[in-house]
Formats: sequence, structure tokens, C-alpha cells
Amino acid sequence: MHLTDNLAAVKRKIAAAALAAGREPSAVRLVAVSKTKPAALVAEAAAAGQRLFGENYVQELTAKAAEVKMPVEWHFIGHLQSNKVKQIAGLVTMIHSVDRLSLAEEIDRQWGRIGRSCDILVQVNVAAEATKSGTTTQDALQLVRQIAALPHLRVRGLMTMPPFFDDPEAARPYFRELRLLAEEIAALAIPGAAMQELSMGMSGDFEAAIAEGATLVRVGSAIFGTR
Ligand SMILES: *Cc1c(COP(=O)(O)O)cnc(C)c1O
Repeated sequence: MHLTDNLAAVKRKIAAAALAAGREPSAVRLVAVSKTKPAALVAEAAAAGQRLFGENYVQELTAKAAEVKMPVEWHFIGHLQSNKVKQIAGLVTMIHSVDRLSLAEEIDRQWGRIGRSCDILVQVNVAAEATKSGTTTQDALQLVRQIAALPHLRVRGLMTMPPFFDDPEAARPYFRELRLLAEEIAALAIPGAAMQELSMGMSGDFEAAIAEGATLVRVGSAIFGTR
């Protein structure tokens, strides 16, 4: 299958999963994860109507963004080192992977320098896996409170990467836990911290994530092929 067919198939599945969950298909946005794939494939997806792309590596993102001439929007979704934040200030419209205050403070500083605000998600390691980034479920609320107080950041919601399972249904409890955590935090009505976005679901499990309330699904290999 070609990229445009893959993209269309993923969009169809997103819409079907949303409808099956009693949700509007437009309530779920597709982040096409283009990491390790060339700018030409991003341009091809953009020509087919995809405008939102996710990248994991700063170097790769800045190089690719310079090459892609179409008006696309970039989200940063990978582990982010504070000393590299400067390079993506103003280039991305959302950072999904904020998991510590020191990183949030650096994003605040760099977006402040350019006189703008950055939308961020707090990454939660729901399963507390040693190999994954993210704050714990227990610490998430305090981190949201601290980040919400920073002037150039807007907390938009939460992000998670559940453990890998062959059966996507097995990931559902982790997606559900993220949604419940977001609802708990939303109920506190913390100024500067909205909880309308849930970034969860990848190629193997985005339909399960949508069933549990995902508003942003990060899909790479199902669109661009295996890495
Ligand atoms: C690579 C990656 C994805 C996409 O994974 P696929 O299985 O290729 O869809 C999503 N989210 C994050 C954080 C990633 O690093």
C-alpha cells in the first residue's frame, strides 16, 4: 500500500472508532508521526491533506521543517533535553512530552524570549515502567499545578505511552486511567491548566485509545511504514 492509501485507511479507522464510542470524528486529531522518515514523505502526506506531524528528535525536526515547504504544523512528542528546547522555540505548536518542572521552565523561558506561549501536555507514565519517561500518576497533579503557574505555557492536557501489548485491548486500562486522572485534575479548575486534550494511542492501539477518550492519536508506522 502507498502512503496516501495508508493515510486514508487510518483516517477511516479513526472516524469509525470515534463513532463507535459515540464521539464526533472531528474530536480526534491525527498526529502523523514522521520520525526517521524523509521530508519528501511528509510533503506527500501534506499533499494528501495531512497537516499535523509529530517528531521525536530535535535535530531531525529542525532539518525536516526547513525542507518541507508546505504549511504544516509540528508537534514534539519525544523525550526532550532542556538544552535543546531553544532550537524548537516557535517551531512546534505543542510539546506532548513534558515530564519535569525543569524542562517546563526552560520551555517557558524560550517561548517567553520570542514573546509567545507554548501549548504543552504533561506526560504520565501510567504503568510506572522503568524504561519510559513521564511523571507518575501520583506526581502529575503537583506538576500540572507548578507548570500552570508559568506565564508562557498553557497546559492543554495529558499524554501517555502504555506498555506494549500484542492485544490492543490490554492497553485500555492505561488509557482509561489517564482519562480519569485528567478528569480529576479538570475538576480542580486550576487556572492555566485545561484538560481537554488526551494524547494517547499509536499504530497498534489508537482505536482502543479513542474508545477511552483520546483527542490526539500519534500514528507513525501505520501511515509511513515500518521504521
Ligand atoms: C514513534 C512514536 C509514536 C508512533 O508509533 P507507531 O507505532 O509507529 O505508530 C507515537 N508516539 C511516540 C511518543 C513515539 O515515539
